[in-house]
Amino acid sequence: MTRRNPPAVSLLLPLLAVATTSLAQDFDFFYFVLQWPGSYCDTAKSCCYPTSGKPAADFGIHGLWPNYNDGSYPSNCDPNNPYDASKVRDLLSTMRQKWPTLACPSSDGTQFWTHEWEKHGTCSESVFDQHGYFQAALKLKKQVDVLRILQDAGIQPDGGDYSLKSVVSAISDAIGYTPWIECNNDEGGNSQLYQVYLCVDTSAAKLIECPVLPRKRCGSEIEFPSF
Ligand code: 5GP
Ligand code: 5GP
Repeated sequence: MTRRNPPAVSLLLPLLAVATTSLAQDFDFFYFVLQWPGSYCDTAKSCCYPTSGKPAADFGIHGLWPNYNDGSYPSNCDPNNPYDASKVRDLLSTMRQKWPTLACPSSDGTQFWTHEWEKHGTCSESVFDQHGYFQAALKLKKQVDVLRILQDAGIQPDGGDYSLKSVVSAISDAIGYTPWIECNNDEGGNSQLYQVYLCVDTSAAKLIECPVLPRKRCGSEIEFPSF
């Protein structure tokens, strides 16, 4: 009879495996969150275009947010790793286009990206450095063209009302996973399509079915405002 490992080592191996797994993955999945600029801007609060000019009439990135399966999430995980534009220099022009800021006062996006990296990005340090984090979000944006998907299903940003169900089905049918739609209200109080949440695995490479959904804030009919 041969025995490869002495009993003590065989007992230790599973423990080591558990320890490495929990280190390698300190969150369960990401929400990849896209915002419709028309719905950010037509609220009572209004918006400011970034210094680079009016963004394209397209969904922009809001963030890539590490989350736990129980719905809670980590935030501001590493004060020692502040946003550093020099680490993403090669991505900045794409970030300006695909991750534009709409908050007032008008700015170049640095504040928005700083906030997203420091609040959310630092909680995915086990997977991504700063460059990898922004690159992963930009890659997802390229991978899923939510506006094209909606338009192909006849859902246009024309100020019209659409059933929430039709919006969800259009995206589910196209990507194979159910998105979460978040609404806000325009100045007149109408419920409108504000953000689209897609769930992705911990490497931010593959779309997955959402393990848990954020709270609901849409009417059954929602407006898709123009921008
Ligand atoms: P709000 O309260 O406006 O929905 O969200 C405010 C901010 O909290 C979001 O922009 C985001 O930074 C964070 N947040 C809200 N809900 C979630 C969530 O379910 N998961 C994660 N990771 N962050 C969230
Ligand atoms: P979150 O909601 O992700 O916690 O916080 C978003 C923060 O980024 C807020 O402080 C907000 O003022 C700022 N911000 C800057 N530009 C934008 C934008 O275009 N959209 C959103 N949702 N927040 C922005």
